Amino acid sequence: MKELSTEARRQILDSIRTVPDFPKPGIEFKDITTLLGKPEIFDLLMDHLEARYEGYDLDYVAGIDARGFIFGSILADRLNVGFVPVRKKGKLPYTTVSEKYSLEYGFDEVEIHIDAFGHNGCQSNGKTSRVLLIDDLIATGGTAVAASRLINRIGATCVEACFIIELTFLNGKEGISAPVYSVLT
Ligand code: AMP
Repeated sequence: MKELSTEARRQILDSIRTVPDFPKPGIEFKDITTLLGKPEIFDLLMDHLEARYEGYDLDYVAGIDARGFIFGSILADRLNVGFVPVRKKGKLPYTTVSEKYSLEYGFDEVEIHIDAFGHNGCQSNGKTSRVLLIDDLIATGGTAVAASRLINRIGATCVEACFIIELTFLNGKEGISAPVYSVLT
């Protein structure tokens, strides 16, 4: 199922709840917990992602804290590749590399273990690790840009960034140097 049918796309879209004014007034929060609670829809989505990425010769899937962990770890398991968490600052126990990004007010920071994709981002045979970045949603793109930079900074290649939902009016994908695939826009 490389291309999603119109019906499948509609089913996935309908399974995601929109919560107005969360976490603050004016934000329409896309709540994927309602999708996760429907096994047949969740499976439909994961089947689609598995079919899309099985030919990409990936070495890792990197998921963004925290909802990217859900989709990313299942996809990594299905593709039989490693899963790597990109975490909010202060959560990872070993040596990390971090990247700051701007929020509406102030900044936030994401981190990754320095050896997450092998020594200097390479596999034991010297091949540069190929990494898919995944998160539930891209809004302004700040988080995903920082995460994709981290992947490249530690020597691996971010071959694509994947999102279940893209809020296209915010042009978030502009700053990501890798190709971007969004299931729903
Ligand atoms: P951004 O860095 O602006 O692209 O924000 C992306 C991150 O914030 C993702 O990890 C999303 O889970 C979360 N996020 C931002 N806006 C929303 C929204 N409207 N609904 C749900 N999650 C959101």
